[in-house]
Amino acid sequence: FRRRELSVGEMVEGIVKGDVTILSQAVTLIESVNPDHQAKAQEVINKCLPYSGKSVRIGISGVPGAGKSTSIDEFGVHLLKEKGGRLAVLAIDPSSERTKGSILGDKTRMEKLAIHPDSFIRPSPSAGSLGGVARKTRETIILCEAAGFDKIFVETVGVGQSETACHSMVDFFLLIQVAGTGDELQGIKRGIMEIADGIVINKCDGDNVDRCQMAATNFRNALHFFPMPESGWTPKVLCYSGFYGTGVKEVWDMIYEYFDFVKANGYFDYRRNEQSKYWMYETINEQLRLNFYHNPQIREQLQLAEQSVLLGQKTSFVAAQDLLEIYYRDNVITK
Ligand code: GDP
Repeated sequence: FRRRELSVGEMVEGIVKGDVTILSQAVTLIESVNPDHQAKAQEVINKCLPYSGKSVRIGISGVPGAGKSTSIDEFGVHLLKEKGGRLAVLAIDPSSERTKGSILGDKTRMEKLAIHPDSFIRPSPSAGSLGGVARKTRETIILCEAAGFDKIFVETVGVGQSETACHSMVDFFLLIQVAGTGDELQGIKRGIMEIADGIVINKCDGDNVDRCQMAATNFRNALHFFPMPESGWTPKVLCYSGFYGTGVKEVWDMIYEYFDFVKANGYFDYRRNEQSKYWMYETINEQLRLNFYHNPQIREQLQLAEQSVLLGQKTSFVAAQDLLEIYYRDNVITK
């Protein structure tokens, strides 16, 4: 038999009651490409908005193999034990578009959290551009908060643009590094170091301890060359082992020290307001972009325009202008 579809009201009621099955259904609507589902999702999100916001949102990033899933499992269990509440683990993985299905946030990678009664794990939405994927994760945060999840982890792979997207929706951005790869200083990619509120060096266990401590010193020195962040908080560098759980308490003491600091100086609320603004503009940009590329006339002309640029018949600028002209004309007539 087919389950009856819940109305917007029923969904909101279920979410606010903390019903995880209904929460999952609503997230599926957010992720759907069906315009009716999307419209319904937007209504649900809007109605959940007043119940959202009362959480701490933490971004966790690191290159593949850095130990994100091992650490998140350990961090999550630690945090729930120490602070109580409920934890949602979400992810942004735009590469999942290519690989059809994200591995980030996969339940099987987080064995302890997967069976924890107070956790909710949801893999990255897999369809669309980075902007689209990130927006869906952000909307999922709102629903999770409305459902009573007061701790949110957003996992992302430390290989590019997705950190910036992740940073734009979290209160604290944690960068997981590993030592001993010989390229830790090369790993100090400018853009990423600048958005990290904390840098943690994982796998500080066994005969790796000295190397980790050396790497930590290098990172601390490197941080001196960056300007003071807007928050007024100087990022800290700590070593830990996600596998053995050592140093995990110190990592979380540091993160909560940060929250105390930015809640006291007003930066916590300031950052959230800036993020809300950012997401309004992001949504406009994304919608305009989609609208442009889905326009039938543009779809028809795009290849030709590309060819004429490649053949040197038009400059990139003129080709773009010509396409935009077609788009404007079409939109003046149809809208
Ligand atoms: P992810 O790709 O960033 O999610 O990394 P994983 O959590 O899957 O870990 C990659 C590998 O590193 C796995 O073989 C883990 O067992 C190992 N690993 C993760 N954390 C630690 C740690 O603290 N110490 C050691 N020695 N190995 C670890």
